[in-house]
Amino acid sequence: MGSLPLDDALFSLNPDTFAEESTAVVDFLARYYRDIERYPVMAPDAKPGSIRKVFPDAAPETGESMDRILDDVQRDVLPGLTHWQSPSFFAYFQANPSGAGFAGEMLSAGLNVVPFMWKASAVATELEQVVVDWMAGLLGLPELFCFAGGGGGVLHGSTCEAVTHATFQKGARIVGIPPANFRVLHIMAESGYGLSADTVRAAVEEDVARGLVPLYLCATVGTPGLGAIDPVRVGTTGLGAIDPVRELGQVARCYGMWLHIDAAYAGSAAICPEFRCHLDGAELADSVSMNPHKWFLTNMDCCCLWVADPTALTSALSTDPEYLKNVGSGGDVSTIDYKDWQIALSRRFRAIKLWVVLRRYGAAAMRNYIRRHVRMAEWNFSLVCFRLRQRLGIDDDAVDGLNRQLLAAVNASGREFMTHFVMDSKFVIRLAVGGAMTEMRHVRDVWELLKDKANELVGGS
Ligand code: PLP
Repeated sequence: MGSLPLDDALFSLNPDTFAEESTAVVDFLARYYRDIERYPVMAPDAKPGSIRKVFPDAAPETGESMDRILDDVQRDVLPGLTHWQSPSFFAYFQANPSGAGFAGEMLSAGLNVVPFMWKASAVATELEQVVVDWMAGLLGLPELFCFAGGGGGVLHGSTCEAVTHATFQKGARIVGIPPANFRVLHIMAESGYGLSADTVRAAVEEDVARGLVPLYLCATVGTPGLGAIDPVRVGTTGLGAIDPVRELGQVARCYGMWLHIDAAYAGSAAICPEFRCHLDGAELADSVSMNPHKWFLTNMDCCCLWVADPTALTSALSTDPEYLKNVGSGGDVSTIDYKDWQIALSRRFRAIKLWVVLRRYGAAAMRNYIRRHVRMAEWNFSLVCFRLRQRLGIDDDAVDGLNRQLLAAVNASGREFMTHFVMDSKFVIRLAVGGAMTEMRHVRDVWELLKDKANELVGGS
């Protein structure tokens, strides 16, 4: 009995067709990057639900050509995109791609191995150990986070997937910690909106007095900003803050709490010696994370998580069903099965992507890349937060209203895209400089547009 017949298209890894269709996609993307400044940064006319009407209600019964599909991407997908790679995208934190990141992603997708354990792809596991050690070295992390120092790292898809950021709150709920026991502490202007050790100590002492057990403290090494219009000292992810790692580490040690350093965005800057001071005290932490997919030219997705004591992860997360045993690896207890360092089983070969980025660009060029953005923002790191200043006779609510209108007007222009945050009940505009294609002329352009729109608003108020 022979195999059932298959459509030609389903011999999908036929080397000739594969090369031809993949080349068409690469050419499409190259054209996209060439023309990217022609697109409005954020789809100006998109209304919720309006876009999906363009697409058929059901999947096609017969396959279509890649050319036709790419035509539809051009016609139906690009107009609804928020162009994250536009050089005038100043929103959130950027997701930096690069030629090398794309090449690494292609290799990862093309090889498509699933290295949940050593045996499932030995080189993927060991290359992951190599690149996380390389990254720890570049960031100047203490030796204790490297494999040789007794710690080690793992690559996740995102900080949240590593359950160290927004998902920590969800994780706490899943393990039965009541939401009320999850403390979000108030940060103040006097401490630059960083989390002060005194605030944490006071909260912990209050909890201990109530019979609670302090477990986990997250310090954020973010990106402070100072505005050019009306400076507002800033903090948290929305505004970016640098928490005093050493002082928080001392409090955490004192009460036996796990200290995590979340350096998702700004961690990349630590490859430059002048920014390493923000990680001072990292030796007091139990874990550290940063995202190469934000500011390190590594296409989505890639997050490095280091722990000082890997058994803290493996004792909680390892599973050992018969079908996942490393038969043949000689029973070496030092063999790493990354499934035991994460919640999910399946995982991607992200190491090859980060490895390609590091090899293709090298540390010196990456340092220049970071410094270039910092210089463009004219600030420590590259996030600037600001608001229109209060004028005599205008109350806080009216100033907030003006700032909201200013942001809406700038974004509606399609020329730029920025986001906002609310701090101390004040609405502030965030300008995150860090796009892979952003040049000084784009930063000047957003500044000119802001001034024009602000003049129109204030003139008309
Ligand atoms: N931590 C910080 C400090 C962030 O600023 C962000 C996102 O901007 C995150 C974590 C979330 O990262 P991810 O999208 O990788 O989960």
